[in-house]
Amino acid sequence: MKVTDYFDKSKGQTHISFEVLPPLKGGSMQAIFDTLDPLMEFKPPFIDVTYHREEFIYNKRESGYYEKIAIRKRPGTVGICASIMHRYGVDAVPHLICGGFSIEETENALIDLNFLGINNVLALRGDARQFEDKFIPEPDGHKYAVELVRQVNNMNHGIYLDSNIEKGSKTDFCIGVAGYPEKHYESPNLETDIMFTVEKVKAGASYIVTQMFYDNENFFKYVDACRQAGITVPIVPGLKPITHKYQLNSIPRKFFINMPEALVKEMVKADDKDVKAIGVEWCIQQSRELKASGVPCIHYYTMGDAKTTHKIASAI
Ligand code: FAD
Repeated sequence: MKVTDYFDKSKGQTHISFEVLPPLKGGSMQAIFDTLDPLMEFKPPFIDVTYHREEFIYNKRESGYYEKIAIRKRPGTVGICASIMHRYGVDAVPHLICGGFSIEETENALIDLNFLGINNVLALRGDARQFEDKFIPEPDGHKYAVELVRQVNNMNHGIYLDSNIEKGSKTDFCIGVAGYPEKHYESPNLETDIMFTVEKVKAGASYIVTQMFYDNENFFKYVDACRQAGITVPIVPGLKPITHKYQLNSIPRKFFINMPEALVKEMVKADDKDVKAIGVEWCIQQSRELKASGVPCIHYYTMGDAKTTHKIASAI
């Protein structure tokens, strides 16, 4: 079933969905099952699986020169999606990114997903690679997520890259895209960022999942601004609890978001052993308020921490 069908069917009800990361290469599928098994009691309508492109590492050779090696640390997104659907009978949403893919490779990946019966995708651009200061698309790849959305939408209309295919089989992908309540870090301002999000929706996106945030006001203002800009599709808040003090710095550095003063103050003065409980409680309060506001779904970034996610989901 499509992600948006779940929202349509259960108007007024707030679903809970989860996002998992593929295990590091050499790991097993059991790590994903260990995360998801205890969370299935919350009946998530869908589970997202992130995609991680290759990274570069530099190995020092005997000559003193460095050798640049590309490695993919977390392969397996498509296989994990198929496995999740098979084990739990719930829909899996693979994240598809522009980075590292030609449009031909993207088309082939979409054909595979369609054949596997996966009919939801989250269409993203991806970030700049380590050691690159900006996102560099493949020469024959997409530069922005909107172009990827267009490609998926074309396939939904039976339009493939090969113009000789006249009556191409129509795929039926429900397309989600990313949104940023505190704006995307490259965007000059929130208005411009939302303007490009409008383009993603016009191109065929049916729902938005947001970057994590810790102040619900930012989310509510973002939804208002999107609605004013003409976006009518469901907007799903993404949440991730803080479990360690160092995340007060690492999360803003990595995700370009702000931490509310009240949360920072409470965490800074707390003993290390109490930090997790504070972060979990903060996330529960955020979740309760979001639920009361009538959001269609709350999306939790599990980061493989089933226990913490379970605690939060139980509380709401
Ligand atoms: P875009 O929508 O293309 O936007 C990127 C930037 O370009 C923005 O600043 C936007 O305002 C601007 N822009 C857009 N269109 C245009 C245009 N036509 N002209 C000029 N500027 C434009 N990354 C991964 O690698 N794997 C994942 O699994 C993953 N999952 C994610 C899930 C969620 C819910 C979120 C919020 C992010 C996720 N990311 C993931 C990170 C994401 O790839 C990065 O945030 C990336 O930098 C931007 O992706 P996007 O799809 O928002 O890009």
